[in-house]
Amino acid sequence: MDKRAILQKFASYAPYVDTQMLEKAFDYSIKAHAEQARASGEDYFVHCLAVAESLLDWKMDLPTIAAGLLHDVIEDTSVTAEKLRQSFGEEIMRLVVALTKLDKVQFSSRDDAQAENWRRMILATAQDIRVIIIKLADRLHNMQTISYLPPDKIERIAHETLSLYAPLAHRLGMFEIKGYLEDLSFAVLHPEEHQDIEAKVLARLPAREAMLSEFRKMLEHALSKSDSPHRVLARTKNLYSIYMKMQRQKKPFEDIQDALGVRLITDTVADCYALLGLLHTHFQPVPDTFTDYIAHPKLNLYKSLHTTVIGPKGECIEVQIRTEDMHRTAEYGIAAHWRYKTGEASKDAHLEEKLNWLRQWIEWLQDLDSPREFLDSLKTDLDLYQVFVFTPLGDVKALVQDATPIDFAYAVHTDIGHSCVGARVNNKMVKLDTHLKSGDIVEILTKKNSTPKRDWLKVVKSARARSKIRRWLREKGIAA
Ligand code: MN
Repeated sequence: MDKRAILQKFASYAPYVDTQMLEKAFDYSIKAHAEQARASGEDYFVHCLAVAESLLDWKMDLPTIAAGLLHDVIEDTSVTAEKLRQSFGEEIMRLVVALTKLDKVQFSSRDDAQAENWRRMILATAQDIRVIIIKLADRLHNMQTISYLPPDKIERIAHETLSLYAPLAHRLGMFEIKGYLEDLSFAVLHPEEHQDIEAKVLARLPAREAMLSEFRKMLEHALSKSDSPHRVLARTKNLYSIYMKMQRQKKPFEDIQDALGVRLITDTVADCYALLGLLHTHFQPVPDTFTDYIAHPKLNLYKSLHTTVIGPKGECIEVQIRTEDMHRTAEYGIAAHWRYKTGEASKDAHLEEKLNWLRQWIEWLQDLDSPREFLDSLKTDLDLYQVFVFTPLGDVKALVQDATPIDFAYAVHTDIGHSCVGARVNNKMVKLDTHLKSGDIVEILTKKNSTPKRDWLKVVKSARARSKIRRWLREKGIAA
């Protein structure tokens, strides 16, 4: 991709934006990295370009793409933050600074350096979410070109990608990049398993496609009289998620139920429910499989209707129904909100509100004392297997796996956590170390003047509860 192609691609979705700054960033980055090469032997600038290209794919705004082109200049060249500010202004300079790792010599070990760099980046993300979006584009290209690195480096980087970047992409609802990052890491960490699953998936593809196309024909027919516009998309699972399912269920590939799935994309929310009604009229729904993520969106902004129906040959087919808008959000997550609409940066009016959970979460993490503790909590909290539980009033709270009523109490409010004395789950009294399950309705019993117990630290699973209890103990002069 050359400069013209970059400008063209940008103009294709933001035609009225002045691109002078983008051109300048392009020239500046080429010049700054002129003496540098990648491990592959290519010009270093190829990497900057690849990062910008991903950001253009996600239709990001101009400062983000410019910062993508410039993201390594402070770290790897003689350019300083001050020079960048003079040339590109405060906004772009800040993005690049947030993406710059601290000098290694400041740390006693690589783990310390990694922990502190993560802490800085996440805190910068709380100020400006575009930081992590650029970082994900950066990591994607690094993973695509990882084979040029020495083996020990490959393993370390792939592990970090799998344990931090992919879950973070998941949290931000960026499912497309999450899948790429997982499969690229999987391929280098477990090459044999990767190859094996890939071959098996390919082998059963024709049979699955035949079944799906038959279902699609029946579906199109069933929906032909509908006023709701729609298109049907096939759905694929990434290889790593199949592998994880095999690990979790301790079953070979052949015994893994990988249901056939399609997506129905339509116009409005009303269309979604109309299509759902038609679908359930023509195909028998499987009991208890319907989930309404439109009425109850996930924390990562994901919305859709999910249901499973019986197909023509008696097979189960998962159907996801969503609007075009929800579909973009499902693929690009938070990045979808930086898209330009009609040439102007139209930021989602409710975006701030929607990002509140992220800010809150970072705020809790901020309470943690050491960078190591920060990184550990980040890893724990990023655990993909979240549980969703409900307050008696029907509000959803997302908690980490094996969360207890105490974690829930702190998720509702710090004071509720502090004064918690008991809990009812689904109307039954339970012990405070009970592991909550998705769908549980949790009611916390509190008592005035009751206080946190030190033992709770052994029980709680979330960073928030742990930090709130610690802080309380510290303030009361009790050693945690
Ligand atoms: Mn980079």
